[in-house]
Amino acid sequence: MKSYSAASDDVIRTIQRVREQHHSPDLDGVTIAALFIFDLEATEPVLTHQGYPAQAVTRITPTRDRALGIADAVVVIDRSNWLTLSARKRDALIDHELMHLERVLDEETELSLTDAVDRPKLRIRRHDRRLGWFDAVAQRHGDASPEVRQAKQMIAETGQLYFDFERPEARAA
Ligand SMILES: [Zn+2]
Repeated sequence: MKSYSAASDDVIRTIQRVREQHHSPDLDGVTIAALFIFDLEATEPVLTHQGYPAQAVTRITPTRDRALGIADAVVVIDRSNWLTLSARKRDALIDHELMHLERVLDEETELSLTDAVDRPKLRIRRHDRRLGWFDAVAQRHGDASPEVRQAKQMIAETGQLYFDFERPEARAA
């Protein structure tokens, strides 16, 4: 059975550090809580997002629950996965989750908006990239497949950001 517990102190400290490093001033004043989810008997991933396994999921707390004093956003973390992550991977995962939180600003004044209980309005920031690939389609259609075309476009736009292929100068040496 799925269960929840308060996230450990290292999660809280990681959130604190990463938000100061990378999400200030955007998330200043936003309260963020964290929960572990776990299932001691499960063999399948305990956390999914839109049908795919996820290491963590971030949710914006509805106004009604904020009125009860619940944090403005809650990061739910797969505990068994978290325990296997290095410090660098933990930082990166938390950074990813915090990226999903975007403050809603007034379009004209650019001041941050608040909800009916005077908490900061947030929205979920979507990923820059969304991959939905079938290897078989890439194999059957090669350069004409949406898969390969998207991969090539991504390389054209981001260079080696995501792919660790050899640099030409390294090959010459
Ligand atoms: Zn994400």
